Amino acid sequence: MLSNLHTHTTFCDGSNSPEEMVQKAIAKGFVSLGFSGHAYTPFELTSCMKDEQGYIDEINRLKKAYEGQIEIYLGTEEDAFALIDRSKYEYIIGSLHFLKVNGQILPLDIGNEYMQRCFEAFDKNVERMAESYYSAFTDYLVKRRPDVVGHFDLIKKYDEVSEPIFLGNKKHDKIAKRFLRSVASKGLLFEVNTGAIARGYRTLPYPSEDLLYVLKTEGADITLTSDCHNADYLDCYFDETKHILYDVGFRETVILCNNKFTKIPLK
Ligand SMILES: [Zn+2]
Ligand SMILES: [Zn+2]
Repeated sequence: MLSNLHTHTTFCDGSNSPEEMVQKAIAKGFVSLGFSGHAYTPFELTSCMKDEQGYIDEINRLKKAYEGQIEIYLGTEEDAFALIDRSKYEYIIGSLHFLKVNGQILPLDIGNEYMQRCFEAFDKNVERMAESYYSAFTDYLVKRRPDVVGHFDLIKKYDEVSEPIFLGNKKHDKIAKRFLRSVASKGLLFEVNTGAIARGYRTLPYPSEDLLYVLKTEGADITLTSDCHNADYLDCYFDETKHILYDVGFRETVILCNNKFTKIPLK
């Protein structure tokens, strides 16, 4: 059963309209599709939605228009530094795309140059930057309990397209595992996100395999998502990721179906 809860459109930084996404999902045989436009972040306007009501209205229109063909869910991807009114949505993905440093909020994932600028703001200290990212994110996760935990180790995003900062760094790995262990058994749903593969930044999904083992050991539930910004990649790397997850020991994944989070066999 194919599904994806992490979908961006032209209402934020995606390249397809919601309706194009729906039509592609139907063509690919999806049972459900969740939209997760980037919620408004007043301190950085590059990626977020500026017309939230227009987005909500359009997803609700599509829900009705495609009833019986595919289940459509209205979600949003909230940033940990800009909390929104979650009652407007059926679910929220909670992510952290920024870091607070030297009195500023710096973006992490809108380009490698921004990641590098952030690293410089931490005096190129891997441990300080990793501590800052994972502690802010896990604080948010515990307090907010979003329905889905977004790309847990996003700070590795550009580590395969430039000199790696965090990927393969033992100090980073220790910090990431410590913070993940602190939240993995709290009943949260963690996404396994293939989005950076579709966009050519990475060859493997988030979280990395060492962190997937932590999730498995702590009994966390997972959902496979494509963090889709282009309809052609709605199920990008899903089959390969299922094999990785199976090898780690997972046998189930979670999708939204019949208006609830439902466990289905991994393969
Ligand atoms: Zn994100
Ligand atoms: Zn996203």
